Amino acid sequence: RNVLNPLSFIVALMLLGGGVFVYLVGQLALKTMSDIRKIAILQYESITDSLTGLKNRRYFDQRLHEEIAHSRRYRLPLSLLLIDVDHFKVVNDTYGHQIGDEVLKNLSKVILEMVRDSDIVARYGGEEIAIITPNTEKAEAILLAERLRNIVQKSTLASIDATQEVVQITISIGVSTLNLVVMDKDALVEEADKALYEAKKLGRNRVQISS
Ligand code: GH3
Ligand code: MG
Ligand code: MG
Repeated sequence: RNVLNPLSFIVALMLLGGGVFVYLVGQLALKTMSDIRKIAILQYESITDSLTGLKNRRYFDQRLHEEIAHSRRYRLPLSLLLIDVDHFKVVNDTYGHQIGDEVLKNLSKVILEMVRDSDIVARYGGEEIAIITPNTEKAEAILLAERLRNIVQKSTLASIDATQEVVQITISIGVSTLNLVVMDKDALVEEADKALYEAKKLGRNRVQISS
C-alpha cells in the first residue's frame, strides 16, 4: 500500500508539530527557571552588603521604617544598636586595608552568631553596624550590647601570617529604644548616634544608652 497517502502524511505532520511544541515548552521552562534563579540572586544582592554579607543600608532604612510602624501598631518595644569599631583607622594604618576588610568580615560573623534570627543586622556605614532588635526592651538591648562588646574584645578577627600577630579590636555601642518621645526612625537613629558619641567620649569599648 502507498505509505505516502494524504492521511498518514497529515498524521506525521501532527506528530512532528507536537514534538516541536513539547520541545519549545521545555526550552521555555528551562529559560524561566534560569530567570527565576537570576531574579533571586539580584534580589539578594540588592539588599546585601557585598563585603560583610550583612544587610545593606538601603534595606536597613526600609526595614527600620516598617519595624517601627509594626511596633507602634501592636505596642511592642523596639530597640536599635549602633556599633562603631574603636580606632579602626589604626588597624588600616598598621596592617593595611585588606586586613581591615577581613576584620570587618569577621566582626560581622561574630555579631551574626550572637543575635536572634528576628534581629536585623546591617552595615550602616564604613565600619559601623546597626542592629534592629524587634520586640526588645531597653534592658534586654543593653544586655545584648554588653554581650557583643565582650565577645568582640575577646575575639581574634584577623591574623598576620608573616609575624603571627593577631588583630583584636574593641567596639563602642549606642543603644536607643522607642518611647513616647522617640517615636520615629530619625529620632531613634539620632538617639543611638548620640549614645554612641557619648560612648566614644567616655573612652570607647563601652555601651551607652541615650539619656
Ligand atoms: P573611633 O571610631 O574610635 O573614633 O576611631 P576610628 O579610627 O574608627 O574612626 P574614623 O571614623 O575616623 O575611621 C573609620 C575608618 O574606617 C576610616 C576608614 O578608612 C575605615 N573604613 C571604613 N570603611 C572601611 C572598609 O570597608 N574597609 C576598611 N579596611 N576600612 C574602612
Ligand atoms: Mg565610624
Ligand atoms: Mg570607628
